[in-house]
Parts: sequence; structure tokens; C-alpha cells
Amino acid sequence: MNQNKGVVLKYGGSSVADPQKINQVADRIIKRKESGENIVTVVSAMGKTTNGLIDLANEISLNPNKREMDMLLSTGEQITISLLSMALNAKGYKAISLTGWQIEFLTFGHHMKSKVQSINGDILRKYLDEDYIVIVAGFQGIDETGDITTLGRGGSDTSAVAIAATLGYSCEIYTDVKGIYTIDPRMYKDARKLDNLSYEETLEMASLGAKVIEPRSVELAWKYKVPLYVALNTNDVKGTHISEEGDKMERNSITNVSIMDKILLVNISLVTNDVELINDIFVKLGNENVNIDIISQNKFSKDKFLVSFTTTSDNKYIVSEVLDKLELDYDFIENVSKVSVIGNSMRTQAGVASRVFEILSQNCIEFHQVSTSEISISYVIDDYNIEKIVGILVNEFEL
Ligand code: ADP
Ligand code: ASP
Ligand code: MG
Repeated sequence: MNQNKGVVLKYGGSSVADPQKINQVADRIIKRKESGENIVTVVSAMGKTTNGLIDLANEISLNPNKREMDMLLSTGEQITISLLSMALNAKGYKAISLTGWQIEFLTFGHHMKSKVQSINGDILRKYLDEDYIVIVAGFQGIDETGDITTLGRGGSDTSAVAIAATLGYSCEIYTDVKGIYTIDPRMYKDARKLDNLSYEETLEMASLGAKVIEPRSVELAWKYKVPLYVALNTNDVKGTHISEEGDKMERNSITNVSIMDKILLVNISLVTNDVELINDIFVKLGNENVNIDIISQNKFSKDKFLVSFTTTSDNKYIVSEVLDKLELDYDFIENVSKVSVIGNSMRTQAGVASRVFEILSQNCIEFHQVSTSEISISYVIDDYNIEKIVGILVNEFEL
């Protein structure tokens, strides 16, 4: 048996967007292979392929069947694995592409947001022992009925970490930015790259919209103590290491501002504070697998109660169907985003929330909703105010 150390390398869509980029990824894999490591590579669909497939489905149906969506979306990654494997073969290396179902990547839960159950590590080890570079399709699995499933948008990160956990390898996520920054560098060009982060901080950032890494992958890495590294696909600049500890030096600062866009804010007017009805609304939405984020309830006037919640805007159709069936009076507010300030310091330092409130009021920026966690505070704000608030927050918290 080959006793080499191993690593899972994950390349996202932009890193494999065309044949030239796939060839460059193959060269980088070869360099690692030459250093004597066992290599499993997980790849996403090329470029914006997944978006294109979703658009295609939406031309056929407003609410496509989710099993069929998984059948469709899983094809994107299958293209990349075969091409990357061919590129490695053409360069004289043994490589094999494998789909989710070929490695028994078992999932449970709902289509399009399935969760990882288990992976057959023996299948991977067999090929690694035979000195193959193993190329696995990210984002996809198979459920107990034998249906193809997918893990939710950005799910290839989760595939990579799950495979790393199964094999006891570390996981390196290569993307189109140099690592994890204090704020999305595409939104704020002077954002600072963070060298070290804890799993906890990274999970909070990812859950609150920093899409550089998918939250469930961080959760899995934390649970199984998989060392994570996020870096630019060329791997010629130092990226971000994610570990239990993070960076002790940076512990007491605000580490990040995250933005989650494409939020749908739903306001439901009720004539009485009917607890049973409110419960019914959320049970029915839950049954339809609608993830609810911030919920608030206010007495609006003498005879009007307002129940508000946020969800992602792709749930608009299904939310309106549920609320129409209940014959409720509601409206949608779109073009809003959730802006979150995140940092471990909030656990011990009071006053971050009040500073943010002050900033918003001084700059006449209204917010629709607010919520907090132990290490973050989030505001739902109109999209046209995002750039302004980001600039102000970055200055205020020296990000
Ligand atoms: P991939 O296709 O490689 O999975 P993604 O598009 O999912 O890449 O994630 C990379 C993108 O994440 C970057 O292009 C960047 O715009 C965005 N991003 C959001 N927040 C951050 C952040 N805090 N640090 C770095 N990148 C971020
Ligand atoms: N191709 C999928 C997506 O675009 C999965 C991924 O890229 O991680 O969401
Ligand atoms: Mg991604």
C-alpha cells in the first residue's frame, strides 16, 4: 500500500472556465504529484455553467422538479472531471475521473440541498494506491434511493472537505482571489487578506455571505479537524490558513464585513396576533424547504400586526404560493442585502452594535431588519446603500 501523505485540491468554476485554464490546473496538479503526495482533485462546473443550466430549466418551468434539477445540474461537474483527466493523460500522467455516485458519495435530505452521509474511501484509496491522480466531481452525490443529488450552490467546497475528512487529508481550496479578505475584494479594492482564521470566524463569515467558501464545508472541516487553506489558483501567493486557533494576534478585532445579496424580505399583515396562524405559516414554509433567516414581529398599529422574515430571493415563487394558499395579506421587498460585521471581539466587548447604529443614523441609512449572534451583527439594507455603508464600516473598524 502506498503510504504517501495526501491532499485534496479543489478548483472552483473560474479556475476551470476554459480548456487553457484546465490545462493550467493540470500543470499545477502535476507539480504537486511530483512532490510525492497522493492527490485527489475536486472540481466545479466550468465557469458559469451551473447558472446557464438553471436558466435553461427556468425557460421550461417556473418551479422545476428538484429531482430533475439535480439530474441537470450534476452534468456540469461531469464535463470538467473528464476534461481535466484527459489533460493529465495528455501530459503523460495516470488520472481517473469519478462522479459522486462512483465513489458512493451518499447524501440525505432534500434535493438541491442534500447533506453528506458518507463516502466510500476504499474506492478512492484503491486508485491512489495504483498511483492515479483522482479527479472527483464536486457538488454531487447519490441518495438512498439511487437518485442523483446536489449539495446546494457552492457545494464543491463541501465535497472536497468531506473527501479530505474521509481520507484524513488536508484540503486546499483554490479560487480566483488570493485568500479570505476582511471584505470581498471585488467590492472593496483595499480589503486586507487574512493570513489565519479560526473555523468559527470563517463559518460565521461564510454563513453571512462571504461566498469565497461554502459554510457547510467549514462546518465539516471544523468537526473533523481538516486543515483548510484558501488561496489563488496559481498558488504563487500566500493564502489563508483556517484552523482551530485562528490568529491569536487578530483575536480582538473585527475581522470581517460580509454581504449577503439577493435577499427577499417578506412582510405579512395580520389583524390579530394569531400565534397559531403564525406557527402555521412557518410550518408550511418549512415543509416546502424554505429557509427562513431573520424573523420579527411588531404591533404596527391598533389593529395591525406585522410579521416579517427574510429568505433568499430564489424562494419568491414558493413563498407566494404558500402565503396565497393561506389567503394572507403580504408584500415583498426586494433589492435588499444583509450586511454583517463579524469579529470575536464582540463576545467580550460591548458597543459594536451601538457604533453601527450610530453610523447608520449619522449617514441617514435606514435598515429593515437587524439580528445578532455572539460574534456578529447583521442589518438588512437597501442595495443602493451597500457601497456607501461598506466604505464607512471599513473605515470605522479599520478593515
Ligand atoms: P469558486 O468558483 O472558486 O468556488 P467563488 O466565486 O465561489 O469561487 O468564490 C470566490 C469569490 O468570493 C471571489 O471572487 C470574491 O468576489 C468572493 N468573496 C466574497 N467575500 C469574500 C471575502 N471575504 N474574501 C475573499 N473573497 C470573497
Ligand atoms: N457548480 C456548482 C455551483 O456553481 C457547485 C460549485 O461551484 O461549488 O454552485
Ligand atoms: Mg465557490
